[in-house]
Amino acid sequence: MRIAMIGSGYVGLVSGACLADFGHEVVCIDKDPEKIAALNEGRMPIYEPGLDALVAENVRQKRLAFSTDLKPAVAGAQAVFIAVGTPSRRGDGFADLSYVYAAAREIAEALTGYAVVVTKSTVPVGTGDEVERILREARPDLDIGVASNPEFLREGAAIGDFKRPDRIVIGAEDARAAAVMQEVYRPLYLNQAPILFTGRRTAELTKYAANAFLATKITFINEIADLCEQVGANVQEVARGIGLDNRIGSKFLHAGPGYGGSCFPKDTLALVKTAQDYGTPVRIVETVVAVNDQRKRAMARKVIAACGGSVRGKRVALLGLTFKPNTDDMRDAPSLSIIAGLQDAGARIVAYDPEGMEQARPLLQGVDYAEDAYACAEGADALVIVTEWNAFRALDLARLKATMAAPVLVDLRNVYASADAEQHGFAYAGIGVA
Ligand code: NAD
Repeated sequence: MRIAMIGSGYVGLVSGACLADFGHEVVCIDKDPEKIAALNEGRMPIYEPGLDALVAENVRQKRLAFSTDLKPAVAGAQAVFIAVGTPSRRGDGFADLSYVYAAAREIAEALTGYAVVVTKSTVPVGTGDEVERILREARPDLDIGVASNPEFLREGAAIGDFKRPDRIVIGAEDARAAAVMQEVYRPLYLNQAPILFTGRRTAELTKYAANAFLATKITFINEIADLCEQVGANVQEVARGIGLDNRIGSKFLHAGPGYGGSCFPKDTLALVKTAQDYGTPVRIVETVVAVNDQRKRAMARKVIAACGGSVRGKRVALLGLTFKPNTDDMRDAPSLSIIAGLQDAGARIVAYDPEGMEQARPLLQGVDYAEDAYACAEGADALVIVTEWNAFRALDLARLKATMAAPVLVDLRNVYASADAEQHGFAYAGIGVA
């Protein structure tokens, strides 16, 4: 099958490489010439474990190619995926669909015969209708299908998620488009991955409902963590105690500094806006958005409290900048708000992240970067674990303490047990652990 993937970012590139690995012939398109040039030279524009080898192998097998030229890739393709960004629109928080619609217009120009145009980007309910309208208006002569196939992969585990998904959701309005989509995912069908065929609007909403539910679960345990701190309970034990209940499940019950990343913040906000527009506000999600926004900055106050009430002139060392481990993605990372809050209070910041420093640099001012965790801690008045990279899970606490100006450890991911840290002479503050 010939497939064109429009947009070669975290989702487009991983999806394109995995679809090529299934045996399809895939061309990944991007507007960004630097990204395409890097890919054509075998360099990955993003950090995602295993991606370089997967791309190299499929390029070698001539199933995967990269180009800035959309036209030849779309002409003759049976499925054309739109995987461009849908960021929050400045000012009002609605999903910015300008990239999706621009891609649809370009695709319309390039189509030569029957093809299914598929939105893989996360898009609000009704976007597929508008994509179909754009395509039909531009090319009334063409026979096309328009489907929705939201992506559920997680950065950092993206390849495994794409190849072994919990489910695939396909929203199609006609049998012909559904059949093409079934063919795209046939290799997974054989693996018995559940494929749900739904209406297009249902598929679009399913993606937002999934992300909003996960964001709610995180926010719920974060609030329980705050309560634990006040009442002298332990949130990790509470999480285990409720998570073992199959109706609840143990995933997404890790208390932390608030959710961030390229999806949850923008998708929860977009769902809130859509629901308001339809006159059926989703009040739980509205509250989740508000609670999470306040939480990130509250983490700066937590660090300040751990430092005795002031960080003015103090050196605060941060371990981890990306919104989660195993990615270089800095979009809406909690570290950004935490650093801003600490700098506003007069702290000097030094940071280390295994993969995220390059993307962090343009987003942060006045931050020094260290080359590893120990160098970061040197001379610091407090060490703050913001992201739970594996490299931070087994640090030599004695060595850290010896180099720091003051032994204060603020562990926003509960990587260390308080008793352990205290035994090594640290003043320890975790999340939801009294
Ligand atoms: P991204 O910013 O990494 O990639 C988008 C790419 O599209 C960019 O490289 C951009 O240059 C390119 N682009 C924009 N307009 C184009 C056009 N007209 N033609 C060709 N290329 C174009 O974004 P992402 O993280 O891959 O997210 C893409 C979509 O997938 C979003 O809607 C997002 O919500 C959704 N999604 C993301 C994730 C994730 O973990 N990142 C997971 C599931 C769904």
